[in-house]
Amino acid sequence: MKHVGFLILALVGLSACAIDPVTGRSTLMLMSERQEIALGEQNDAASLEHFGVYADADIQHWVEEVGLPMAAAAERPHLPWTFRVLDDAAVNAFAGGGGYVYLTRGILAWANSEAEIVGVLGHEIGHVTARHIAERYTSATLAQVGFAAGMVLSPELRSVGGELQTGLGLLMLKFSRDNESESDRLGVRYAVRAGYDARELAGFFTTLDRLAGPAQDRLPSWASTHPAPAGRAAEVMRAAESLVAAGQLRVGREAHLARIDGLVFGDDPREGVLEGRSFKHPELLFQVEFPADWQVQNGKTVVVAAPRDGSALVALTATERQGESLREHANAALQARGATNIRGGRTTVAGLPAYWAAYNASDDGVILGVRETYVEYRGLVYDLIGYARDRDYARYAASFEDYGGSFREWSRREADLYQPDRIRIVHTPRAGRFDTFVTAGPAADVERLALLNGLEPGTKVASGFPLKTVVAGYPRRPER
Ligand SMILES: [Zn+2]
Repeated sequence: MKHVGFLILALVGLSACAIDPVTGRSTLMLMSERQEIALGEQNDAASLEHFGVYADADIQHWVEEVGLPMAAAAERPHLPWTFRVLDDAAVNAFAGGGGYVYLTRGILAWANSEAEIVGVLGHEIGHVTARHIAERYTSATLAQVGFAAGMVLSPELRSVGGELQTGLGLLMLKFSRDNESESDRLGVRYAVRAGYDARELAGFFTTLDRLAGPAQDRLPSWASTHPAPAGRAAEVMRAAESLVAAGQLRVGREAHLARIDGLVFGDDPREGVLEGRSFKHPELLFQVEFPADWQVQNGKTVVVAAPRDGSALVALTATERQGESLREHANAALQARGATNIRGGRTTVAGLPAYWAAYNASDDGVILGVRETYVEYRGLVYDLIGYARDRDYARYAASFEDYGGSFREWSRREADLYQPDRIRIVHTPRAGRFDTFVTAGPAADVERLALLNGLEPGTKVASGFPLKTVVAGYPRRPER
């Protein structure tokens, strides 16, 4: 089970090292290696908290096995290099400060060879060795890096979800196109040195570009964090060709496909699904109802909903109980929020022990009206909070109360039906065009499946050729 933490707690470390936006520029070249490593560690803790590591020891092990020697042979071998596969559907890879490199399970699903993944790892290692991270971090504003601390108590929610929710400011910042070109060159060099055919990376960049779509994912896409320099694929190809002339270099298509057979593909419904206004969590076995017609965003540690005009917000988080009783837990939380004019007391929600409170709090000088319900269930305390500017509170009081009272347990039998889509590798029974092996479906699906395989629909493949297919889980979800 993924730990569900409280957003604010997870982010304390980030704001502590935020840089003064005024003097930030002058800090640019002054960030020490120790600071960079410390920053990387803090972001790593946030990554683990928010996304978690993808639970496949073989895949994690392989990524370390190729990543560590590549980094050890590069310019900053003494860094505490760490390679992780994050449990996220977004197709991306990141470098954090101090030698932390991340792939998503999404990028593993879309890659078609070991050489592509090694090329991406090389590129990310390049961002670290060329010190782009420190540069990028120090040029970020306080707002970008320290944004999250005030988020759960911010009355005007400009952006309910996406990047702001993740708390991973550092990982979300964009590199410059010059940085990208430099990392491409370094990545090619590292990949070839590791014995992989870096020409594969050129083709994969094309796939990544074709995948750039609306940012629906919790993590942004590769294209949004790694802006493509002009003629990138051609540049990479040229750089690779000048290095690969001699010797046999590994591509590893079959090996990669065998490794990702069974990989979770797309969003994982076990992390929570929205059905109408009901939010259900198949692993934590609960459901809640959000106010009708509010927009809901499901993050890994917080679910939030807001009306279209952003004039109110409800959020759901969970944490372990602090203190002897639910009352103590609630009182500590209220104190931390600087609550005044508190009303409330013990209650039950659908038979579960609960505690409610209505109060005022101040956020940046704005007086908020808040209603909060704590529900204790299966070893966690669920916090259902709703708030608006105090002058708007009366308008939303009933919605907040209904929301707080909507928490229900959910049966394991029903929850167990919720399963993710998965990659399944099949071998073609005969030679033929790719699209003749795809069972009936809309043309867009054939196109997308071809892209998933790094092919065109009309590409001819040999008999016994391994292909990726997607086995649908439950519930059937719209195209992602
Ligand atoms: Zn990059």
